[in-house]
Amino acid sequence: MKGMILVIDGLGDRPVEELGNKTPLQKANTPNLDKMAENGINGIMDSIAPGVRPGSDTAHIAILGYDPYVVYTGRGPFEAAGVGLDVKVGDIAFRCNFSTVDDDFIVTDRRAGRIKDDTSSLIEELNKMTIKGYEDVEIMFKESTGHRAVLVLRGINLSDQITDADPKIVGKPPKTVYPINNSINAEKTADLLNKVIKESYKILKNHPLNLSRIKNNEPPANVIIPRGVGLVPEVEDLNKKYGINSACIAETGLIIGIARFAGMDIIDVEGSTGSVDTNLDVFIDTILNAVNNTDHDLFLVNIKGADESGHDGNAEEKMRFIEKIDEIVFSKISQLQEIVTVVTADHSTPISVKDHSADPVPIMIYGEGVRVDDVKRFNEIDSVKGGLLRVKGSDLMNILMDLMDNTHKFGA
Ligand code: ZN
Ligand code: ZN
Repeated sequence: MKGMILVIDGLGDRPVEELGNKTPLQKANTPNLDKMAENGINGIMDSIAPGVRPGSDTAHIAILGYDPYVVYTGRGPFEAAGVGLDVKVGDIAFRCNFSTVDDDFIVTDRRAGRIKDDTSSLIEELNKMTIKGYEDVEIMFKESTGHRAVLVLRGINLSDQITDADPKIVGKPPKTVYPINNSINAEKTADLLNKVIKESYKILKNHPLNLSRIKNNEPPANVIIPRGVGLVPEVEDLNKKYGINSACIAETGLIIGIARFAGMDIIDVEGSTGSVDTNLDVFIDTILNAVNNTDHDLFLVNIKGADESGHDGNAEEKMRFIEKIDEIVFSKISQLQEIVTVVTADHSTPISVKDHSADPVPIMIYGEGVRVDDVKRFNEIDSVKGGLLRVKGSDLMNILMDLMDNTHKFGA
């Protein structure tokens, strides 16, 4: 028996007035999800714990059976792994923005006009960087999408106990980075990072790509501003832990990074945008191909769009996207044989909050052998009455492994 955890990112919500005080999922027409709910077991889930507002990263770490309070040291390591940098335990990793500063080193655009050019030529120059006095530290950059990039510092006596460089607003220079404890390692890392930021400006200022952007009246990507520092953690291999062969199908680097840390294989989705306009036809074909034609037996799937609509406070868009997933993705998922499918979310992103909230999310398990309860619709309200009651994200792998008949008896 195979297994799949299908996460609809940010799916959970609260009643929305313009939807007649229903949640977008409640209001949406979702015949396929409802059919699965009717023939499955339902409940609600706190991905971390009741009242804890999860990030997408910490929620996925918990759903994969890890303790986010141990594994999660910051966003940097997961972003870096997500773009394919080969991070090692002990590295210090950051996510970065290409930003624009003026001649006085004042930030005039935090995202460099949301640069659409290929930034790999900028990264190539940045990767030649060495900082005087820190020749023993490897400084590695890699581009991500748009204005995003990552930075990894590798060397001895480094620390992630430092403050952020991102001023968060324009009109100010990048923040000076400070150690947040008295260790020499933190002091060293903070000093190094301040120098890296200044040096990035020297390297990027007159780069041909930036000179041509200035000529075209576009903000140059002339400085790197790191944030989200984290010490690269040691993560137990998911495949060894559960005796499985797992793969991840996701649209965002952050989730892919977490899957890489867990030792999962990554299956690309061609042309995905991580947004409501993502190509769901390609998405479902990718899932079906992976389930039917590979020897993987556990899949983590993340579809991102609904979270974005939640952050934008766009109820209608969120509801329409849910309907689109139901029609294109779940019409096919519901037909799969010999697989246990979990459908849930990593957290709620309520229209009224425009950010993640701690409201528990609906969860449904569908497949051969599950106890079928009385719930007939998949949503935040109906699911509460189901046989799973209220579970935690960290219980999910155990529950799924047992339904896949992949667990051993505890005791005699
Ligand atoms: Zn999320
Ligand atoms: Zn979000």
